[in-house]
Amino acid sequence: MAIAPPDRRPLVISGPSGVGKGTLYNRLFARHPDTFCLSVSHTTRNPRPGEQNGHHYHFVSMQEFEDLINKDGFVEHAKFGGNRYGTSKMTIEEQTRKGKVVVLDIEMEGVKQIKQSKFDARYIFIAPPSLDALESRLRGRGTETEDSVRKRLEQAHNELKFSQTPGVHDKIIVNDDLDKAYKELEDYVYKPFDS
Ligand code: ADP
Ligand code: 5GP
Repeated sequence: MAIAPPDRRPLVISGPSGVGKGTLYNRLFARHPDTFCLSVSHTTRNPRPGEQNGHHYHFVSMQEFEDLINKDGFVEHAKFGGNRYGTSKMTIEEQTRKGKVVVLDIEMEGVKQIKQSKFDARYIFIAPPSLDALESRLRGRGTETEDSVRKRLEQAHNELKFSQTPGVHDKIIVNDDLDKAYKELEDYVYKPFDS
């Protein structure tokens, strides 16, 4: 049987592209099956090899994305690296109905919008051990063009600066050693309410 964390609020996980957010929360999902679910975002970017529509993202055209904005269908949305990304109200409703702890993987403009909404969440920031390590992870993943790597590294500076704003994140984890970072994530997610 799945053991739920004491605090069942959604987890908003952010951090520079390539820092290891997906690696960390996918391990959380694998170690605690049926406990968590990903908030499947909408995006206008193209799928990477192996990414499935409706599972990793809802892959939509710019027109479809803008139609959803006009229908007030997003909890938050932002531009990143020349593409648009957003969390739809429908996704949040669907995932919350499953009774699981919802995990959002979003960038900093989305974090700001969620923080200004009525949405009650826990905010976790994943930081790289260094910018060099971040770059080599991003390149090592082999998913990005040179232009996309450059945009993501530029944006990484803004993400890191934002993470230093006091009171924005409840927990900052440096993803240096993966096992250590994962343990910190799991301990935080499962900690009792009052600690
Ligand atoms: P994000 O979801 O933040 O964009 P990913 O989870 O896709 O990042 O990780 C980017 C790359 O870095 C992947 O190839 C992943 O295997 C690798 N990676 C993740 N964590 C670590 C770590 N602690 N040490 C070295 N490589 C890592
Ligand atoms: P990627 O293209 O690597 O999947 O994601 C790029 C960036 O977009 C990451 O920082 C990721 O957290 C962010 N992102 C993914 N989905 C959303 C979303 O729904 N809203 C916002 N604001 N950012 C998102």
